[in-house]
Amino acid sequence: MLRLNNIEVVYNKMILAIKGMSLEVPDGKIVALLGSNGAGKSTTLKAISGLLKNEGGQVTDGYIEFEGEKISGVDPDKIVKQGVFQCIEGRRVFKHLTVEENLLAGAYTRKDRKNISDDLERVYHYFPKLKTLRSRASGLLSGGEQQMLAIGRGIMAKPKILLLDEPSLGIAPLLVKEIFQNIKQINQEEGTSILVVEQNANVALSIADFGYIMENGRIVMEGPVDQLLSNEGVRESYLGMN
Ligand code: ATP
Repeated sequence: MLRLNNIEVVYNKMILAIKGMSLEVPDGKIVALLGSNGAGKSTTLKAISGLLKNEGGQVTDGYIEFEGEKISGVDPDKIVKQGVFQCIEGRRVFKHLTVEENLLAGAYTRKDRKNISDDLERVYHYFPKLKTLRSRASGLLSGGEQQMLAIGRGIMAKPKILLLDEPSLGIAPLLVKEIFQNIKQINQEEGTSILVVEQNANVALSIADFGYIMENGRIVMEGPVDQLLSNEGVRESYLGMN
């Protein structure tokens, strides 16, 4: 279980981006974190994965724990080793290396090297497209294919929880549906917990168990997906329905 307990995040010692936020991702569940531009969703993910430091951000109050151990303030590499992996498109993807070489690089934290080729096959099972593109330079992939590669690299790291930041961004609608189905399949077959940040609430809620809605650095609503989908306010403001 991942737990954020009343965290506050400040950038550059002056910008208060998150103002007392609590959130949980139970083992094996998919949780969607929704909200508009600038609400603080990406900041939340970076606080969890420890990447906040690179941007001058800091958790100044509250704490984050994973499986009962505090991870706020811990180095990003150690957080990955504890099983928390944030998929970031383009991050540590070497554009001149092939898709397969990049996937193999994603297993760098692993000790069980003999299982790595099985894991490669698992990635290709979820994303057959990556198999056909295995020898292509990663810099030549489309936006959707790069997103698949970013998630594929996450799978290679065998995390307990995957953190995804707007997997739908800049991707054609048909492919968005496909990628979210892939994410659901990974959750079901691997048992990996997922925390997915999205502005596209409809697609995120189509696969999630629980949802949180964030505005202006705070959680304004939360609940099981069925409850959120039947809430008039949520339907009007976030799902484009009435
Ligand atoms: P988006 O979907 O646009 O990324 P978001 O919900 O993910 O939105 P964040 O990117 O987390 O929102 O931003 C939350 C707040 O923190 C915003 O007010 C933003 O301007 C501020 N912020 C984000 N990154 C930084 C940074 N590196 N330095 C200073 N302020 C930042």
